[in-house]
Amino acid sequence: MKITVIAGGVGGARFVRGVREHVRRSAEEHTIDVVVNTGDDWWLAGLRIWPDHDSVLYTLAGQNDEERGWGRRGESERVSAELRTWGVTPEWFTLGDLDLGTHIARTAWLRAGETPTEVARRLGARWDLGVTLHPATDDEIDTHIVTPDGERLHFQEWWTRHRARMPVEQFVQQGIEAARPSPAALAAIAGADVILLAPSNPVVSIGPVLSIPGVRDALAAASAPIVGVSPIIGGAAVRGMAEACLAVIDVSADAGAVARHYGARGAGGVLDGWLVGEEDAQAIAGIEAAGIAARAVPLWMKDANTSAALAADALDLALTLADVG
Ligand code: GDP
Ligand code: CA
Repeated sequence: MKITVIAGGVGGARFVRGVREHVRRSAEEHTIDVVVNTGDDWWLAGLRIWPDHDSVLYTLAGQNDEERGWGRRGESERVSAELRTWGVTPEWFTLGDLDLGTHIARTAWLRAGETPTEVARRLGARWDLGVTLHPATDDEIDTHIVTPDGERLHFQEWWTRHRARMPVEQFVQQGIEAARPSPAALAAIAGADVILLAPSNPVVSIGPVLSIPGVRDALAAASAPIVGVSPIIGGAAVRGMAEACLAVIDVSADAGAVARHYGARGAGGVLDGWLVGEEDAQAIAGIEAAGIAARAVPLWMKDANTSAALAADALDLALTLADVG
């Protein structure tokens, strides 16, 4: 079975690890393709940084810092201290030494003329990931926030420096009109037997992927069922600040509201199915009324077992829908 996951950083990484774990435990042959959000990407100190891609990469490689929740394990920050002293990087953003190695390698390959897709292939080849990572686009679509006063900041500055507390009028993906999905991402969507939307931030992780011209059409045309997993459990985003982002687009932090925001594929949206937490079972009727099949399952990815079980639930719902469709 060919499984394609659309994912952001932390929630995306945990979910993809669960999908891989589930697949490894099953006897069937599987391939896993991950279309990764590039909306968080940015340039800093002359280096191209891919936060979501690297979160997924390090997590699948077993190189992530589990306690801190981001970056490499066994990390040091000698170079970062130097860069701050030089005034090249701001106080509020730390680049670990090992992580800098990734950014330098990536930037070198990009400077040599390789596409982000090719660079992702090189980065992924270092470890036995068991999945293939595809940047959603080879174009730059860095997310910026626009304040009510019309000030513009890169998303990273708002998120990391201001902890998402500065008022936002809207999110803008710079260059999105001219962007195209990467051919590899399109192929992963068209060739999939099952498409899963990871429990990632709907506004700044999944949203940017869906806003790349051509992605929604590709999903609409895909023969695979599309099942999403709610990043909102019991009315709150776990691990993150997704509520602040949802408020900007007037979607309440509610598992049903997020499903209706994505919309049913039969009604111009992207979902055939949606998993909510057991504590949100009362949301199912409203989701199904919108044309999306819904189920309540345990949604917390605490460890390998709970993450694999969530992946199994998502695949199970997808296969039920494939039989019907
Ligand atoms: P980011 O790019 O690093 O912000 O990560 P993502 O966009 O992939 O995921 C962030 C979102 O993942 C958070 O807003 C949470 O709502 C969601 N999330 C994190 N951990 C879990 C979990 O265990 N279960 C579920 N259902 N969602 C989670
Ligand atoms: Ca992100």
